[in-house]
Amino acid sequence: MEYCPNCGSILVPTNTGNKVVLKCPRCSYIKEVGEEERRKYIVKESIKHDPKERTVVMENEIKTLPKVKALCPKCGNNEAYYWEIQTRSADEPATRFFKCVKCGYTWREYE
Ligand SMILES: [Zn+2]
Ligand SMILES: [Zn+2]
Repeated sequence: MEYCPNCGSILVPTNTGNKVVLKCPRCSYIKEVGEEERRKYIVKESIKHDPKERTVVMENEIKTLPKVKALCPKCGNNEAYYWEIQTRSADEPATRFFKCVKCGYTWREYE
């Protein structure tokens, strides 16, 4: 982590088109970043952003799933989200999954 020599704020890596610079958010001081450091920042950023983005996708998917009548084995609620996943070879039936709308418990049902 690097600090601004003018005001002491933490410098933020910023992508300016074809190169990455370290920028001070308070006084807009800019420090050029060498090629090796540049790669370091790019790798760090992609690791940091990945899991969060996946969680968002999953939540969006669940909201669009159809609801069916299914008894939750955990809380006894009678409504669950429903989806199918082809877990094995294509000629075998897909596995059905349920997620309770009330408690969020997820279970599967075999044919
Ligand atoms: Zn500064
Ligand atoms: Zn439940």
